[in-house]
Amino acid sequence: SAPGGVAVVGSGLIGRSWAMLFASAGFRVKLFDIEPRQVTDALVSLRKEMKMLELSGYLKGELGAEEQLSLISGCSDLREAVEGALHVQECVPENLELKRKLFAQLDKIADDHVILSSSSSCLLPSKLFAGLAHVKQCLVAHPVNPPYYVPLVELVPHPETAPATVDRTYALMRRVGQSPVRLLREIDGFALNRLQYAVIAEAWRLVEMASPSSRWPPAWHLGIVVQPLISGAEVKMAACFSSSLSCEQRVPPKVAARWGNSSGLKGSPFSGHRESGAPGPDLLRGGMLSYCDRYGEGMKRVLKTFGPVPEFSGATAEKVHQAMCVKVPDDAEHLAARRAWRDGCLMRLAQLKHQL
Ligand code: NAD
Repeated sequence: SAPGGVAVVGSGLIGRSWAMLFASAGFRVKLFDIEPRQVTDALVSLRKEMKMLELSGYLKGELGAEEQLSLISGCSDLREAVEGALHVQECVPENLELKRKLFAQLDKIADDHVILSSSSSCLLPSKLFAGLAHVKQCLVAHPVNPPYYVPLVELVPHPETAPATVDRTYALMRRVGQSPVRLLREIDGFALNRLQYAVIAEAWRLVEMASPSSRWPPAWHLGIVVQPLISGAEVKMAACFSSSLSCEQRVPPKVAARWGNSSGLKGSPFSGHRESGAPGPDLLRGGMLSYCDRYGEGMKRVLKTFGPVPEFSGATAEKVHQAMCVKVPDDAEHLAARRAWRDGCLMRLAQLKHQL
């Protein structure tokens, strides 16, 4: 039987991907956007993408593309989009004032059951949902772009979010094939972006430290994919960093391979390090404890050399931009082709992981 409806508010990059995901699990999806043209475009691009996925055998779910498409409809009225929905997934731009205004509107429309969920990447729930009558029904469900291909979703509650709201969202995410991670309380940047920003900031500093004469190999890039694996009651965040970062030296792809294999597929971000820890003399203090004994002082020393927060602008931004454009020019056509390539890789990676 049809499992009920979901309203997706904002039909840009993330809203479209959520719509495909909910439809793949048989949910009726109403897609709303303040710009009616965005909804029309979204419906056209969803049709194209889902047909292509069906042809290549990568369409998710039991239903065919045509059946899934028939579950998704455009909507030009917010109230109509939300009416009868069990879940609202907000996907408007990352702007606190804009989102607060929208949630104030949703608060007036919402009944006492619907879940009001934001896709925000790093706006705190206490700021997003402050003062709402339905705050118990609100949370952030932060996806990784594009959610159709990357299963990690961080569930971040407001201090007053009802546990049942988190439980229901967790169950919904599992039902659509995602791997949700519950944060017990809000924290700036949530978990994923705290990890990502640490890596990005250090990469940035390395670029700034590189001598002006250093040569930039054309293949310079830093890509990050973080996916969670749920094992029993435990949630394990797995990070696969595909890193071929170069300043003076090239960091070999084995960094990516190790994160991908030992950390990414079967463990936590610590697994790779644990597996590098030699067993101690009595063979009991092997693994992580041995690793900490042997490398703890070194890690502390290196971490203390990390510089201040970079500006993420100016000459370094230009340098990074230029270097990346050597590999893929950043016009719309090249970026679209690159996204399609990325989505194909992510889908194949997900299938491979499924087989392990
Ligand atoms: P986007 O710019 O592609 O799409 C936003 C859409 O919202 C547009 O179609 C716009 O017309 C619409 N919109 C603006 N105001 C609206 C309103 N009041 N009511 C309804 N629709 C409105 O943005 P995106 O990349 O899809 O990001 C959406 C959210 O998802 C942001 O909070 C972002 O931080 C988060 N997110 C993005 C990524 C990413 O990599 N793009 C990843 C994870 C989370």
